[in-house]
Amino acid sequence: MLVEARDTVGGCASTVTDLGARFNICNCDHNMIRALPIMDELDLTSHGLRYIETEISSIHLAHGETTAWPFFHDTERHLDALGQIHPAWVPQYRRYLNDALPVARLAIDMARTTPSTALMLRRVAGLRGRGARRLLAWSRSSAADVLRSYFDDWRIWMPAVSNGPTVWGVSPETPGTGLAAALYATKHLNRTGRPVGGSGALTDAIEASFRAAGGTVITSRMVEQLTTDSGGVRGVRLDDGSTITARAVVAACDPQRVFTDWLDDPTGEQAWPSSARDEIGDWRSQPVHDGYESKIDAVISSLPNYRHADQLREVVGEADLWSPTTVIHPTPEGLADAHRRRATGDVAPLPTMLLNIPSVADAAMQLSPDEHVLSLEVLFTPYTHDWSRSEEPSRWLELLDGLCQPDTLQVERWRAMTPDRYEREFQMHRGHTPAYAGSPLATLMGRPRPTTRHRSEVPGLYLGGAAAYPGAGVFGGAGRNAARAVMSDLNR
Ligand SMILES: Cc1cc2nc3c(=O)[nH]c(=O)nc-3n(C[C@H](O)[C@H](O)[C@H](O)COP(=O)(O)OP(=O)(O)OC[C@H]3O[C@@H](n4cnc5c(N)ncnc54)[C@H](O)[C@@H]3O)c2cc1C
Repeated sequence: MLVEARDTVGGCASTVTDLGARFNICNCDHNMIRALPIMDELDLTSHGLRYIETEISSIHLAHGETTAWPFFHDTERHLDALGQIHPAWVPQYRRYLNDALPVARLAIDMARTTPSTALMLRRVAGLRGRGARRLLAWSRSSAADVLRSYFDDWRIWMPAVSNGPTVWGVSPETPGTGLAAALYATKHLNRTGRPVGGSGALTDAIEASFRAAGGTVITSRMVEQLTTDSGGVRGVRLDDGSTITARAVVAACDPQRVFTDWLDDPTGEQAWPSSARDEIGDWRSQPVHDGYESKIDAVISSLPNYRHADQLREVVGEADLWSPTTVIHPTPEGLADAHRRRATGDVAPLPTMLLNIPSVADAAMQLSPDEHVLSLEVLFTPYTHDWSRSEEPSRWLELLDGLCQPDTLQVERWRAMTPDRYEREFQMHRGHTPAYAGSPLATLMGRPRPTTRHRSEVPGLYLGGAAAYPGAGVFGGAGRNAARAVMSDLNR
C-alpha cells in the first residue's frame, strides 16, 4: 500500500498540468535510473514508459560568454567536438577518461548491487580492484581538487561541479565531494534520457506496475505518525485519524521528518533497543537544511535563437540545441560568492541555471505547432528569501533573455516554483531536496545502517527515497534496495 499526500504520485519526479501545459517538476534529465535494471524488473515498458535520447546530452556555457561546448554520449564524437572548440582540452580529457571510466564503472556496479558489505566487496574484487583505490581517494578529496588535477581551464570542469556539488547544495571545495569528478565518465557510460510525455511518465509507469502487482494507492492523505508498540512499528496514522496496520513501513520521504515528527517521545519505548533511541536522537539533533532550488516553467510562442547557437552549429551541424539541458554557470569566484550569499539568504546575481525546452524533442509535451514548454532551473535561491514579494523570478527571465538574440524569447505565460512552493506543494521541509551523503567507505561498511542498509534500528521501519543509498536525483536505487530489505526480513 502506498500513501501519498498529493493527489497524484511521483513527487518531484512528476509532470503536472498548469497554465494549460504539462510541466516537469524537476529539470528531469534521467541518468542513473537508466543504469539500474528497474525498467525490466518492474516491466515499465509494458506500462507505457519510453525514453527519448538526444544526440547531444547537454550544452555548457559560462555566464557572459558566447562560446558553448556540447556533451556527446559517444566519447570519440565528444573528443572530436572538443577538439574543434578547445583543442588544448583534448589530451586533458583523454587522461581524465583513462582514470575516471573505471571509477564510474565501479560506482555504477556498486549501485546495482544489493547493499551488503560482503556482496559489495565481492563486486570490487571481481573487477580486480580496478578503480577501487581511485574511487576511495576521490571520495575523500574535493570535486574541485580532483577536477583541477586534470583540467587547467575552469570552463571545462565547472559544468561537472554544477551537476554535482552545486545541485547537492555544497561548495566544490568541500572534502568528500570528489566523486562528482566521475560525472562526465558516467554520462559516457550511461545515456541521459527523458521519458516520452515528461518525467512523470516514469512514476506513472511505476504506479501502473505497482497496481498490476496488487498494490493499493491512497492519495491526498498525509502520514502523520507511526503507530508503535514495544515490538516496534505497527503501521501509520493518517491525517484523517485512520490507521493502517503494516508489518513493515518504508518511509520514502525526508527521514529527518520521519524521526522528528512521526514518532512519540522515544524514551517512553523502553522495550526498543537502545540503538533505536540513539538513532532517533541522532536524527533529531542533526541540522535542518534549507532548500535552494527554484524553477521557471513557461509557455513560449516560438523557439528562441540562442546567442551561442551559430558557433555551436559550426561544430555539431544542424542538431537540436533546444532539447538538451544547457548548463549556464558562473566562474569559480562567482560560485564562491553565490555560496556566501546563500548562507545569508541572498540570491546569487549570476546563479547556476539549467535550461531546456523538452517539447522540441517530445511532441507529447508540445501544445501547438508553435507553442513550446520551457524549463529553467535556478540554483542559489535560498528558502529564507522573501519569495512572496520577490522580483527575482522576473530577473531570471531577463538573464535568460540576455542569452538569446533580441526579441527571440517570446514568453506567453509562466510560473515560478520557489523553495516555499516546494515545501507547500511537495511536502519538502523548508523546500529542501534530500540526497544521500554517505562516502563509499561508509556505504561499504554499512554505516549508518538506516541510510546505507535501509533498515532503521526501530524494528519494522525502513528508509527508501533520495536520502538513502544510492539516492540523489531520480535514481530508484534506494527504493529497490529498501524493497529487497523488506522482502528478505519478511521472508525470514
Ligand atoms: C528544481 C529541481 C530540479 C531537479 N532536477 C533533477 C534532474 O534533472 N535529474 C534528477 O535526477 N533529479 C533532479 N532533481 C531531484 C529529484 O527530483 C529528486 O531527488 C527526486 O525526485 C526525489 O525522489 P523521492 O521519491 O526520494 O522524493 P520526492 O520526489 O520528494 O517524493 C516524496 C513524496 O512523498 C510525499 N510525502 C512527503 N511526506 C509525506 C507524508 N507525510 N505523507 C504522505 N506523503 C508524503 C510527497 O508528497 C512526495 O510525493 C531535481 C529536484 C528539483 C527540486
